[in-house]
Amino acid sequence: MALKFYNDLTRKKQEFSEIAKGEAKIYSCGPTVYNFAHIGNFRANLFSDILRRYLKYRGYKVTQIMNITDVDDKTIRDSRKQGIPFKEFTEKYTKYFFEDIEKLNIEKAEFYPKATDNIKEIVSMVKKLMEKGYAYKSEDGIYFNIRKFKDYGKLSHLDISSLKSGARVCNDEYDKENAQDFALWKFWDEHDGDVFWETEIGKGRPGWHIECSAMSQKYLGETFDIHTGGVDLIFPHHENEIAQSEACTGKKFANYWLHNEHLLVENKKMSKSLGNFYTFRDILEKGHSPMAVRYLLIATHYRQKLNFTFEGLKAADSAVKRLEQLMSKLNAVKSDSGNDISRDIEKARSGFEKAMDDDLNMPAALSEIFEFARKINSAINDGMLSKADAEKAIKLINSFDTVLGVMKHEEEELSQEIKELIEKREEARKNKDWAESDRIRDLLKEKGIIVKDTKQGVIWQKE
Ligand code: AMP
Ligand code: ZN
Repeated sequence: MALKFYNDLTRKKQEFSEIAKGEAKIYSCGPTVYNFAHIGNFRANLFSDILRRYLKYRGYKVTQIMNITDVDDKTIRDSRKQGIPFKEFTEKYTKYFFEDIEKLNIEKAEFYPKATDNIKEIVSMVKKLMEKGYAYKSEDGIYFNIRKFKDYGKLSHLDISSLKSGARVCNDEYDKENAQDFALWKFWDEHDGDVFWETEIGKGRPGWHIECSAMSQKYLGETFDIHTGGVDLIFPHHENEIAQSEACTGKKFANYWLHNEHLLVENKKMSKSLGNFYTFRDILEKGHSPMAVRYLLIATHYRQKLNFTFEGLKAADSAVKRLEQLMSKLNAVKSDSGNDISRDIEKARSGFEKAMDDDLNMPAALSEIFEFARKINSAINDGMLSKADAEKAIKLINSFDTVLGVMKHEEEELSQEIKELIEKREEARKNKDWAESDRIRDLLKEKGIIVKDTKQGVIWQKE
């Protein structure tokens, strides 16, 4: 089966054909570090995490770049509003971002370049665009002339023929109705305070869009395989990235454009500006587990809108627990004989791969996994699973989890102390020391671990 992605550039599902054999080069637009990221933002991060994990599952060597936007209108505005030195302000939210993605078990990208560490590269790209006649100087900055770039609008399918010539937009964010020449470099004014760079192209700071063109070129080359981001970035951000990069190099920028749909709250995009957001930390404070959040955000197809509810989060939590309980039961299987499950294993594996190959169809992949889980569960309950087959099933689920990433993390969190208590209790039971075994069981319960004695032996699960 061939791996296919829906490419927003062509509006078609297309077979993935990489530039360098066996390698996948990905650029993912990262966070603007002016506040805690909300779980809508993390839907975007989790989508690119699933993409990179599945490419790795398929044997690709992945190089992923995620930029950190640490200078833009919002970072400057809010650091000044809060009276915190600019660098301190952006570093604080960068640190929180990394803490959150680690808790969400999001694999690290290979590089996280910051805009402020790449001013030299940005300036040299702006200079090149001016030399080639794509950019011009005005009183407040250097602008990209969108009429000069004949393909402008090819990603968002925007027709610019009727646009007023020479109209400019200085803000980083604007909508399709306001498609205009956009700022590559903004000359300093008093709103910027002490945030500026003295450069050959003037005293100022970069516009938001140019950093991604400069940094992707630095780390991935002029043309790379896959560009990701949320659908709200298609216009203007990604359209502008294409214009800057292709005007500069004369080459195609990215071959595949993959965008995740939004996380909604009561059918509106979760966003800072609407105020209808939950940060990941809000959710954890309410007592929910990071893996439930992860599962909830990956279980819907990335191109489908997802409405956030706490019922949905609860259902996600029980799905994760079902898988964990199955793993505990499988680990406890001791029997020498049982039914042959090799066909179930093959069916689950090929079903999972077929679904994921088809534009990362996670709902279909999960339904294959849960069908397999049901079968194996009933084989265990009927005492019809051998230890050898249980080990094969564990291996299979672990390989699925290299993509899902919902279980290992919790396993790792099972502390040494808990493991030792479970072993001690088994020991006590062997010695028929029931009082001691009950005492340890109660102690484990206090720590949130339930142990059960089954026909297959002792299993544990989290409360
Ligand atoms: P920002 O920090 O606002 O630049 O956004 C970081 C990433 O989160 C971008 O890829 C956005 O498209 C994405 N994003 C923002 N809000 C949502 C949402 N409600 N659902 C899904 N992705 C989002
Ligand atoms: Zn970007």
